Order: sequence, then C-alpha cells, then structure tokens
Amino acid sequence: MLNIVIFGAPGSGKGTQSEMIVEKYGINHISTGDVLRAEIKNGTELGKTAKGYIDQGQLIPDELMIDILASTLDSFKDRKGVIFDGFPRTIAQADALKAMLAERNEEVSIMLDLDVPEEELMTRLIKRGIEAGRADDNEETIKKRLLVYHSQTAPLIDWYKQDGKYQHIKGYGVLAEIFADVCKAIDKVK
Ligand code: AMP
Repeated sequence: MLNIVIFGAPGSGKGTQSEMIVEKYGINHISTGDVLRAEIKNGTELGKTAKGYIDQGQLIPDELMIDILASTLDSFKDRKGVIFDGFPRTIAQADALKAMLAERNEEVSIMLDLDVPEEELMTRLIKRGIEAGRADDNEETIKKRLLVYHSQTAPLIDWYKQDGKYQHIKGYGVLAEIFADVCKAIDKVK
C-alpha cells in the first residue's frame, strides 16, 4: 500500500503534483480542500460551516476534518494506496492519520514537502485567483493562510522528520523536473 502525504504551503503545487502522481501510480486521491469546496457548492450544512472558516483563511476544526477524512478513506474500494493532499495540516491531524492507518494495518509511506519561496507562492496564488476564481485566493486571505501555514502546519515538518517519513522536494523551477524528483522519492519507498 502506497500512502503518500503531499505537503507544502498554499500554492506549493500539491494539487498539480497529486494529479500527476495519481495518473502514474494509480492510487486514490483525497484533497480535503476539494471535498470542502464540493460541500459548499452543494449547499450542505457541512459546506456552510466550512465556508466561514475558508473565507477567513482559517482551518476547519480538527474533529470535523478527521471525520471527513475517515469517511472518504473508507469510500475507496480495493485501493492500492492514497495520496493525502491538504491533510494533515495540524499535529492533531497527523496523529489521527497515523492512528487511522494503523487500525487498518497501514502507514504513511512518505511525506513529500514541496518547498517554494514565499514570493513565488504569493505570485502563484494571485494568478490562480484570477484564472480559477477561487474565492480564498485574494491577497488578504492569502496572507492569512500563509500565517496559518507557518504557525499550525509547518511544525509537521519536524513531526514527519521524527517519524522517519520526511522528504524535501525543491518545489519550483521546471514542472517536469519537480515531478521527476517526486517520482524518485516515491520509487524508493514503493
Ligand atoms: P486547500 O484547497 O487545501 O488549500 O484548502 C482550502 C481551505 O480549506 C483551507 O484554507 C482551509 O480553510 C480548509 N482546509 C482544507 N484542508 C484542511 C485541513 N486538513 N484542516 C483544516 N482545514 C482545511
């Protein structure tokens, strides 16, 4: 079972790399951001709750996110593995993911940290806001999301280092080269 955590700040390319990984390795993909955006679009109660946090650039509470993740995971039948995109974002979520996989006799195979300089993140996110029309890709919300990333999510770098799963990836430059580094790292643990 190939379980990959794709990690990085907002705009680091997690979604892009995930799509390419899914195509090459044939594993399932969980993007918690996509799950929440679908709930918002469908006007569900969960969507209404999530929107308040997303528009403010804040994280959705851990318990809620962990429940969503568990049910998405169990919806995959006969899976060969999963790429976790946008989850975990807090230490509590990383602990929960570890426990959830352990209950299924599985573990995270590798955590790929897409490292991109802050100025480049800003440029990419502002561009995505214009092109893809994502409501939280405006300058004010982007700044809040980056602060949240540094305070709540970046501590997971040390958490995964201690867990022996951490792999740094240079996340800027030529897309094909980034993906080649990603594949090299995955092939080592496959
Ligand atoms: P993303 O598409 O991954 O950038 O997520 C967009 C927004 O959804 C984030 O800014 C959070 O508000 C929320 N979100 C997505 N994943 C999580 C998570 N694992 N924990 C808490 N909030 C999340």
